[in-house]
Amino acid sequence: MAFEFATAGRIVFGAGAFRQAAPAVAELGERALVVTGASGERAAPLATALESLGTAVIPFRVQGEPTIELIRHGAEFARDERCDVVVAVGGGSAIDAAKALAAMLTNPGEPLDYLEVIGGGQPLAHASAPLIAVPTTAGTGSEVTRNAVLASPERQVKASLRSPHMLPRVAIVDPELTKGLPRPITASTGLDALTQLIEPYVSSRANPMTDMFCVEGIRRASEALPRVWENGRDCEARESMAWASLLGGLALANAGLGAVHGFAAPVGGRFPAPHGAACAALLPHAMEINVEALRRRAPESAALERYAEIGRMVTGHGDATAEDAVRWAAVLCRRLEIPGLRAYGVSEADIPALVEGAARASSMKANPIVLTEEELREIVTRAM
Ligand SMILES: [Zn+2]
Repeated sequence: MAFEFATAGRIVFGAGAFRQAAPAVAELGERALVVTGASGERAAPLATALESLGTAVIPFRVQGEPTIELIRHGAEFARDERCDVVVAVGGGSAIDAAKALAAMLTNPGEPLDYLEVIGGGQPLAHASAPLIAVPTTAGTGSEVTRNAVLASPERQVKASLRSPHMLPRVAIVDPELTKGLPRPITASTGLDALTQLIEPYVSSRANPMTDMFCVEGIRRASEALPRVWENGRDCEARESMAWASLLGGLALANAGLGAVHGFAAPVGGRFPAPHGAACAALLPHAMEINVEALRRRAPESAALERYAEIGRMVTGHGDATAEDAVRWAAVLCRRLEIPGLRAYGVSEADIPALVEGAARASSMKANPIVLTEEELREIVTRAM
């Protein structure tokens, strides 16, 4: 047994934990860049608390998923404002933007110099500015991962800025912040969380520590996700989803992902499909093709047994198979009214470019089996 595990410097979890954000920020700096989604409403109590502690609040709003351009301008703005600490209150877009901004605050040059796949891929030379991440959705786990996904609209693709320096200093996970989420966002972010537990569990890089998180997270999410869909104010189920999302982040940052996330990069780069929605549309089909490919070419693979274990966890049946896990995921996506990729403008003509993009994506490297071009094509065709 040999593995490495890294995460945020401190994790604070629980209802009401958000109140600890202001003192945590004030301890780390004097001028706080407060990164939020489009409305910024969620961060209002934090801004008030920071001001009373004598910390300057410099608001920065992120519309949609962050682009390289947004980070280039945002970093200049943050430097001009002499920000020395960054705090994100929002979904994965706001947190990823904040992680990239914190990195670019202390490192020279521009984001493209450091981006993998489409950029220079240089390692970050300096530690990021200290960052406190407060998720308001239960899905991305970005509060405990070391990368930020940035879109390049001109290249029609997304790529990561990735460095151990990008792990947030403090992650504050307060399930109460997710209570008001609209149903479709609850569904798509919840399925992203589930995907981020399933993919690391069957990943070629799984380790005993991430396995533990995946088992607990899959059990929790499979039980709680239908409940939060039915009733968004079910506090116990919201808490389970926030916990499952955090576990997914811990797992993926240390064990990698797979084919669903391999496709999520080119789909999200070319079409206005939010990350969670793209993953939700792809999940049952990527599972199905993976299981078929493993049966054909690697019937002895441990990953097949892991899919069967997922089947047993989610159905509660001791004799469930890998195929039962696939069927369960398909039924769940139908129940949560997950639209296919066509809903975001994807058509048959786009399939070759998506297959090519997925094959190159960094997430694909941890998929339990190397998929053929034909198999990749089949995933996206079924997800339409
Ligand atoms: Zn994801």
